[in-house]
Amino acid sequence: MKTTAIVLAAGQGKRMGSDVAKQYLLLCGKPVLYYTLKNFEDSQVDEVILVTAADQIEYCQKEIVDAFGFTKVKQIVAGGKERYHSVANGLRAIAKRENCAKANSACSENYVKTDYVLIHDGARPFATPEIIARGIEAVQIHKACVIGMPVKDTIKISDIDGFAEQTPNRNLVWQIQTPQIFAFDLIHNAYEELLLKEEELKQQGIAVTDDAMVAELFSDKKVKLVEGSYENMKLTTPEDLKIAECFL
Ligand code: C5P
Repeated sequence: MKTTAIVLAAGQGKRMGSDVAKQYLLLCGKPVLYYTLKNFEDSQVDEVILVTAADQIEYCQKEIVDAFGFTKVKQIVAGGKERYHSVANGLRAIAKRENCAKANSACSENYVKTDYVLIHDGARPFATPEIIARGIEAVQIHKACVIGMPVKDTIKISDIDGFAEQTPNRNLVWQIQTPQIFAFDLIHNAYEELLLKEEELKQQGIAVTDDAMVAELFSDKKVKLVEGSYENMKLTTPEDLKIAECFL
């Protein structure tokens, strides 16, 4: 069984209000992306494809991958405008290797097909090897699963004027994290369909914010929710950095 992680680091992180994208900000002296990649390096995942902005590929290779000796990062590819474009580019990089291996014996030497893919936010540095292992165990049974945690607060759905409209049963509400883990063919096909129907979804006001959504919309598999941890936060706004330094 071969597992490939796609680590996303092509966002600009505008909500952080910093000139430097959040995945490169320093936490206790090291870039956020270092901690994220270290968890995958120490996990059972076989390899990592890192997705960054096109003009950051060289920086990431030299200053992060080479500098910290991450041997599992096999490829760095350019991301796209939205998160889902960056994911699609990572998935296409895997598909390209596969097509090359099928067509050309020079590529097929030592080539092993990816069975499962773990899609992970580069700005989420606390997905431990244990969380990754729980996800890999679950995906072998369910083919599609996402890491998350039951919410602690009561959640309200508001109307467009900001008045409470619905209160979902708290026992059934989860906050979703990453990694989100899928059988490769399932999620690759779902993403290809998403790209074909991108405009249609936009017109319907549907914003694609995670990978489970793509599987829900474009595959017939139900997505299993698997417990992560409350520490497995995504760094989004400045106060998140202080909390992350406390955890470290
Ligand atoms: O913007 P958001 O917080 O949802 O981003 C989650 C992750 O996706 C971040 O690690 C960010 O770098 C990545 N991302 C990306 N390409 C984009 C937008 C976000 O790789 N176009």
